[in-house]
Amino acid sequence: MNHIFIDEPNKCCGCKNCQNICPVNAISMNEDAEGFLYPNVDANKCINCGACKKHCPLLNDMKRNTFLKEPLCVAAKTKNKDIQLKCSSGGLFGTIALETIEKGGIVVGSEMDERHKVHHTIVDNKEALSKILGSKYVYSDLDNVFIDVKKYLDDDREVLFCGVPCQIAALINFLPKSYDNLTTVEVICHGTPSQKLFDKYVDFLEKKYSAKLKGFQFRSKKAANWGTFKALAEFEILKKNTSKIVSKKINADFDPYYWSFLNSKNYRESCYSCKYANPNRNADITLGDFWGIEHIKPNMVDYNGVSTVIINTNKGLETFKMLDEKIEWDYVDYKTMQDNNGQLKAPSKRPIDRDNWYTDIERSDFFEKIKIRKNYKSYIKLFFPQKLKFKIKKIISKK
Ligand SMILES: Cc1cc2nc3c(=O)[nH]c(=O)nc-3n(C[C@H](O)[C@H](O)[C@H](O)COP(=O)(O)OP(=O)(O)OC[C@H]3O[C@@H](n4cnc5c(N)ncnc54)[C@H](O)[C@@H]3O)c2cc1C
Repeated sequence: MNHIFIDEPNKCCGCKNCQNICPVNAISMNEDAEGFLYPNVDANKCINCGACKKHCPLLNDMKRNTFLKEPLCVAAKTKNKDIQLKCSSGGLFGTIALETIEKGGIVVGSEMDERHKVHHTIVDNKEALSKILGSKYVYSDLDNVFIDVKKYLDDDREVLFCGVPCQIAALINFLPKSYDNLTTVEVICHGTPSQKLFDKYVDFLEKKYSAKLKGFQFRSKKAANWGTFKALAEFEILKKNTSKIVSKKINADFDPYYWSFLNSKNYRESCYSCKYANPNRNADITLGDFWGIEHIKPNMVDYNGVSTVIINTNKGLETFKMLDEKIEWDYVDYKTMQDNNGQLKAPSKRPIDRDNWYTDIERSDFFEKIKIRKNYKSYIKLFFPQKLKFKIKKIISKK
């Protein structure tokens, strides 16, 4: 047997490389009870060519010959306020994306569409850029976007691709060669829940507010300053012949989906043994939130967000230099970054109750039944918003 065979759920990250590469369309992706996709090989069609195994990111390692000897680490934030407010951390991705588009390139990133489905999409103009800014805490379906990415690369278009680390590894493993016109950006990731779970959450919200959900932003800076995890949900309220949009702020510490996400309860099984959550990154540039900035670079504190930026390759360095006047930045050493960001060291710990976390997912009251374990910090955060916390820590660190 020379085809892919998933005997344990943690051996597949759901990238669909096997399906997209199969020359005889022998592979389909099946959804399991939790809503995660896994390959299914039709033995009657399979010609045992081994392509699916050869292109699987979890079965193959990356060639690291283009990597810098030491990654270059900086704290950075964009000077473009509009972009910074739409992005989740310091707006570095948005700034690189805008530069790429202005130079005639295309950008590939994750969007949540009007049906609240999260998937990767291609953007080639400034107006459409907003839809791929910001973090979506759901697994982003890659569908067959790599096939289009390859076409653009072969046509010599500049391509910027952004995704979670396993998706970057998947893209590199999918492509037949390395391309000088490709830049990869990975976001530091602690894990992703399934689309099915998010769909159930949308039902829960619509029931709770008796209104149709029109938009959802996980890290809304309209809802709270950077660092305070609050989502902004927009609902359409229909009254007689009129409709109006009402916004609700959702506090992560008191919301069943957000709380369970931040507490690592509901990730894909492969996330708990993620082979990319370590110091050896795979993308040209790694981006994350710069937690702890108030201790490390107090003069860079910004309530609208600061990014951790790790430049891993020469291509990443070229891209970073291109940002030139567009960002503010300062050097930080790698160890300091790692100490403030667990996913630069190891994957998220699998909680004991992960085994039965999804068991009741089919129940209509699934989210109502989730018991949020609130701790004193949740309440402290209510009375000490991030802005105040930053101010206090800034004063303390100056002493
Ligand atoms: C699931 C997830 C977990 C994360 N966990 C951490 C963490 O533990 N520590 C940390 O420091 N940072 C984490 N981040 C990254 C952080 O939230 C920011 O995305 C990152 O700092 C880039 O911010 P930005 O302001 O530069 O750009 P942003 O505009 O926020 O970046 C947007 C881009 O991020 C990518 N993206 C967004 N959602 C997804 C998704 N579901 N799947 C694939 N790609 C996506 C897209 O390509 C999108 O275009 C996580 C992000 C995601 C999506």
